[in-house]
Amino acid sequence: MNAALGGLLEVLFPSACVACDAVLSRGRFFCADCAPLLLEVGPVHCGRCAEPGRFADGVCPRCRKVQPDFHRAFAPYEHDGAIARAIHRFKYEDHPELAGPLGALLSERSADFLARAPVHVCPIPLHARRYRERRYDQATLLAAALCRARPGLTLADGLLERHRATERQVGLSDEARVRNVSGAFTARSGVEAVLLIDDVLTTGATASAAARALRRVGVRRVEVLSLCRATRVFLH
Ligand SMILES: [Zn+2]
Ligand SMILES: [Zn+2]
Repeated sequence: MNAALGGLLEVLFPSACVACDAVLSRGRFFCADCAPLLLEVGPVHCGRCAEPGRFADGVCPRCRKVQPDFHRAFAPYEHDGAIARAIHRFKYEDHPELAGPLGALLSERSADFLARAPVHVCPIPLHARRYRERRYDQATLLAAALCRARPGLTLADGLLERHRATERQVGLSDEARVRNVSGAFTARSGVEAVLLIDDVLTTGATASAAARALRRVGVRRVEVLSLCRATRVFLH
């Protein structure tokens, strides 16, 4: 194998399992123990927020009650097992280098969604204070890695700012989540359509608040892509 190709594979595929750090043969993201623990979100889910399940008219009760401000969302995995472990390592255990393989994984597992998605990719940013605590913004790293993995996508990470620190959404009710993130974002205009990126999509309240800020400054279409979808709120 020539050096350039070896370098490319190094970027796209990790040398260790992203969930448990076991040594891997090239061309995979998860080891043989972790791979069976992945739960894919099947083709049957809410057309609006990607909640798994079969719903009347293809829209879940939550979206029917309060329409999200984004138009379409997708996540390839349910927030459980090996992908939840990988995201925890990436986000809370100081492994920013997992952004590369997780971005490549997201590109690979979301190919159908991405084929029709906006090309301007914007991470849902952390507030400056949380950024200082963590020293990296996982959604920004993931969005940048997705753009590297998929030619044609452009990183537009200056479009959104989280100007108000919000409580973590863990353990909050649907209504409290909406209140918590409402008005937390300011947006800059400049593009017609935006693909928002976050690591985990839960009720969609945060994504919806970000989408609302973008639409207020003239963005006409907002879609959301995450690595996984938390179907049971308490897990996130
Ligand atoms: Zn593993
Ligand atoms: Zn929905």
